[in-house]
Amino acid sequence: MTESPRIPHQHVDNAVPELADSPSGKATSANVATSASRYRAVVDSAYDAIVTIDQSHNITLFNRAAENLFGYRADEVLGHRIETLLPEAAREHHARNVHNFAASPLTELRPMNPPRMDASNSVFGRHRDGSIIPVEIAISKIDVDGHTEFTAVVRDITDRAQLLDRLKKQAVTDALTGLPNRREFLAFVENMQRTQAALSVFILDIDRFKEINDNYGHHVGDEVLCVLANVGASHTGEPGLFARWGGEEFVAALPGADAAQAHRVAEQLRLRFERQDFAHDWRLKPIPFTVSIGVVTREAGEHDVEALIKRADNALYRAKKAGRNRVETG
Ligand code: GH3
Ligand code: MG
Ligand code: MG
Repeated sequence: MTESPRIPHQHVDNAVPELADSPSGKATSANVATSASRYRAVVDSAYDAIVTIDQSHNITLFNRAAENLFGYRADEVLGHRIETLLPEAAREHHARNVHNFAASPLTELRPMNPPRMDASNSVFGRHRDGSIIPVEIAISKIDVDGHTEFTAVVRDITDRAQLLDRLKKQAVTDALTGLPNRREFLAFVENMQRTQAALSVFILDIDRFKEINDNYGHHVGDEVLCVLANVGASHTGEPGLFARWGGEEFVAALPGADAAQAHRVAEQLRLRFERQDFAHDWRLKPIPFTVSIGVVTREAGEHDVEALIKRADNALYRAKKAGRNRVETG
């Protein structure tokens, strides 16, 4: 068994035995030069942007990753204020945030979870071209010759932010029609329920939809659902919300609408489907269909969303019982 090779001394920081016999000043300056060049290499090869600022919030260090991230060369920003790298909306409060952060106890060791100056999870930088960059940022307070300075390690999280946005959108969107889904609808109505504003809702169900699937195929049934979604959404419009409740059932929330207004909106929509009063390029030939609708209006002090929808569902049931293709009020 052979002995493993010894690691040469010069690979270890602060150990330069070859220089031990040299005058001590020379040894120290060589050591400092090595450290400085190593430090520079580490900082410049870092994957994350590293920016330091002094007590006056002027930039004192700007590594290569920072140049790539923000689009400035180091010599263009060194000595300039950190606000250059922030979106306009964040500039005003930044100095105060730094001030408050500076007032917190000095952390000698880098904590496991570096303190953040911005309590929210959304932190943004500003590229030279004006574009806003979502970033993750860890800020440390450092002591340099008795002065407090700050180091920010900044990571571009554009991809992650976009993925998060996409997932958030998917979570509240119906995949087939692109309408808000049941979850989004309930959140919308629950929000409305906290106010005293008038609110009506209706639930709409396609009549004998099963026959459309059976006669034309499931994909044509899907097309009918998409047509209905487009017409319903444009018909109810802002500030209303038209959503897919599930299957061939849709719901609408009509803020500000009293019972008579809500009934009118629902009746007009029913008529538009009956008359095919909308533009659509059917893939085959136009598919006739009708809908039944149950409408309810919130009563004073009514805050139970489930109960409101149950009442609408009961009205819908009556519309079906009464022969379909009609609007009933609950
Ligand atoms: P009613 O007038 O009583 O409402 O009769 P209906 O046939 O519309 O009601 P039923 O509940 O019997 O049938 C609903 C059908 O909707 C059955 C189901 O296969 C179909 N369906 C549900 N979701 C989808 C979908 O996403 N695409 C398609 N093409 N069909 C769907
Ligand atoms: Mg149904
Ligand atoms: Mg149906």
